[in-house]
Amino acid sequence: MFFDSSLEFAKSLDQQDPLNSFREEFIFPTFHEKEVRYFTGNSLGLQPKNAKKYILEELDDWGKYGVEGHFLSRRPWYSYHENLTKMMAKIVGAKPIEVVVTHSLTTNLHLLLVSFFQPKGRRSKILCEAKAFPSDQYALASQINFHGLNAEDLVEISPREGENIIREEDIISKIIELGDQLALVMIGGVNYYTGQLFDMKSITAAGHSVGAKVGFDLAHAAGNVMLSLHDWGLDFAAWCGYKYLNSSPGGVSGFFVHERHANDKTLPRFAGWWGHDKESRFQMTPGFHPIPGAEGWQLSNAPVLGMAAQLASLEIFERAGMDRISQKRTLLTGYLENVILNVSKKNQALCSIEIITPSDPKRRGSQLSLLLHGKGKEVHDELTNRGVITDWREPNVIRVAPAPLYNRFEDCYWFGKYLEEAIQ
Ligand SMILES: *Cc1c(COP(=O)(O)O)cnc(C)c1O
Repeated sequence: MFFDSSLEFAKSLDQQDPLNSFREEFIFPTFHEKEVRYFTGNSLGLQPKNAKKYILEELDDWGKYGVEGHFLSRRPWYSYHENLTKMMAKIVGAKPIEVVVTHSLTTNLHLLLVSFFQPKGRRSKILCEAKAFPSDQYALASQINFHGLNAEDLVEISPREGENIIREEDIISKIIELGDQLALVMIGGVNYYTGQLFDMKSITAAGHSVGAKVGFDLAHAAGNVMLSLHDWGLDFAAWCGYKYLNSSPGGVSGFFVHERHANDKTLPRFAGWWGHDKESRFQMTPGFHPIPGAEGWQLSNAPVLGMAAQLASLEIFERAGMDRISQKRTLLTGYLENVILNVSKKNQALCSIEIITPSDPKRRGSQLSLLLHGKGKEVHDELTNRGVITDWREPNVIRVAPAPLYNRFEDCYWFGKYLEEAIQ
């Protein structure tokens, strides 16, 4: 990408950006009465303006109809989640039968692990990345305990000595090495700390070649990078709705179960009435008959207010289109990378900044993780004092993620200016 460090250049990129106007559909927090420069859509996405409207509509209908709202509300609550399915399926490259939005990420991971982590005899191990997001570490370790296995059954793959990101070839060779001892591969599709995007297609193929199941945590991938979950053939995936997908704090989250498992009634699962066959659900008879596909893993009836917020955001994704979002993301993050490298070069003597996220756009999403040698926390605090919202991860990483739906190139320009001030 041609790079010019002027504000005019950033503004001209914004003028040429076909997604520029989507910014108007979000509410920006303020700092000293000015809009903040928001770079934490990877942590909590901004509020779509329509979220309030849709939530208020459901509150009105609840007031107006009471329990009858399950059928009489403008979007009947009984089937509310179905309003989200098709749009969410498109975002992750899946068929509608493979996706449902409900519960939250860690809950969904456990439900899917119950079905897809089935250790038998020698085949008892899970392969995951070292330093996975803590919730995933706890979930996997507790599943291992639940099956009466040992800590050694959780195999972690790390970057090589002196390196920051995990080499894909090391993951593949570990899978081959574990062979018939491997029950499950479960990795974060985009690593929350380094921003590294893994080649999920190759990892899935390698896992399946040794007879293991393969699942991904897509918390940092869904709504961020192009996904083709159906074609890649993984067994399952789960993500959260409140990061790139703006579903509201702790909001509803989606998951994926590959179509080939849609009618498999032999899979063990923790069942609930909302996963039971829709025709006979209210006959309240004993015996669980799962709905074919991902819906069969639902436990409880739809949390409508949370889903209303997710609906507002998914409609924006639907209009913008994942392919355009992804194209802008490549440019925007590439531009931000140039801005940061430029600041770093000019200020070498004061603070050296290392971007640990891969520089290849195919190996990352929006997020850049900056390793600050020296004074990381001070720089982060100085940025915050200037209304620049980034995210600090111990011991010395600042994560910056421009979200293509609401961040401008100009925001990245100002990030560079304030970063330089903060360092100095
Ligand atoms: C954000 C995140 C979580 C959070 O889990 P919740 O159940 O939504 O609280 C879990 N795993 C990863 C990888 C994450 O990035």
